[in-house]
Amino acid sequence: MRHVNIPIFIPHLGCPNMCVFCNQRSISGKLSFDISAVENDIETALSTLSADDDAEIAFFGGSFTGIDTDLMIELLTLAQKYVEAGRVRSIRLSTRPDYIDNGILDILSSFSVRTIELGLQSMDDDVLVACKRGHTALQAEKACRMIKDRGFSLIGQMMIGLPASSVEKEIYTAKRICEMGADGARVYPTVVFYGTELCDMMHSGEYTAISNEQAVERTKEALKVFAENNVPCIRVGLQSGENLSDESHVAGGANHSAIGELAMSALYLDVICEKLDAADKLPQNIIIYCPRGETSKIVGQKRANIQKICQKYEIKRVKVLEKDELLRYNIIIDFNLI
Ligand code: SF4
Repeated sequence: MRHVNIPIFIPHLGCPNMCVFCNQRSISGKLSFDISAVENDIETALSTLSADDDAEIAFFGGSFTGIDTDLMIELLTLAQKYVEAGRVRSIRLSTRPDYIDNGILDILSSFSVRTIELGLQSMDDDVLVACKRGHTALQAEKACRMIKDRGFSLIGQMMIGLPASSVEKEIYTAKRICEMGADGARVYPTVVFYGTELCDMMHSGEYTAISNEQAVERTKEALKVFAENNVPCIRVGLQSGENLSDESHVAGGANHSAIGELAMSALYLDVICEKLDAADKLPQNIIIYCPRGETSKIVGQKRANIQKICQKYEIKRVKVLEKDELLRYNIIIDFNLI
């Protein structure tokens, strides 16, 4: 069954927080919300889905459980109508750790909310302070525990390249997300948008934005942790429509539409090299078996991975074949001659 999110963007709606990377300032203070447009968006999305799809109405954008309670309930009631009509399976939402408490979870439990995505960003307090997140790592931990204890599915969102962060802190954050029982993760390399405090920090020299190359390397390390712990990473990087790759909005940082693909490709190269390093003797030709749909990541952009493998191990030919039974990042190398 194919999982599909029907994304409904809930604007900032007067979020009182001041995260330095937030690009939603321009719409802060907007207090009205056109609920009829939401119904329209859901209908449009549903018209493109098949009856077999595992569809969730997903309230993304600001912090859903931080908006006015009446509006939150109104939106949940609207989404619930689609669940009860059998047109979607459940409801999904994203929010902040400090907007989770028993009262909120009671409300969410009374609707068909299945998945809660939590914007953790980092599990290091120095990073959270430097980003003016307004919550601590301990609050994040408590929120994760409460979400899991109440039987919701938890997705942990983290960022790469934030102020005061490092690859070690990002690996630690990924590990904590796994340890806290997340059912999935999203990784967002930091993009510096115009009009944000982060942009001012970058221009004053207080913050150095990460390059696309650094973002790939550091994201790869987080992906490795998720892979080792069998926590699926459901998305890397912002999606188009989130102002990414529109140069007029982006002042710096990881603004490459294929960061996720590049990071996964880098991780595959590590996995392949590990296996080749462990081999006693290498033939001139090898076959790499990979999971279904992963060939392009094994090969790399412009065949970069294959070229590196051939060069480093003096291999003449690498053939890549897909096998259904292999899971992501699991590969088999056949050392027999092709
Ligand atoms: S909590 Fe979300 S919407 Fe509010 S300032 Fe931070 S990033 Fe922006």
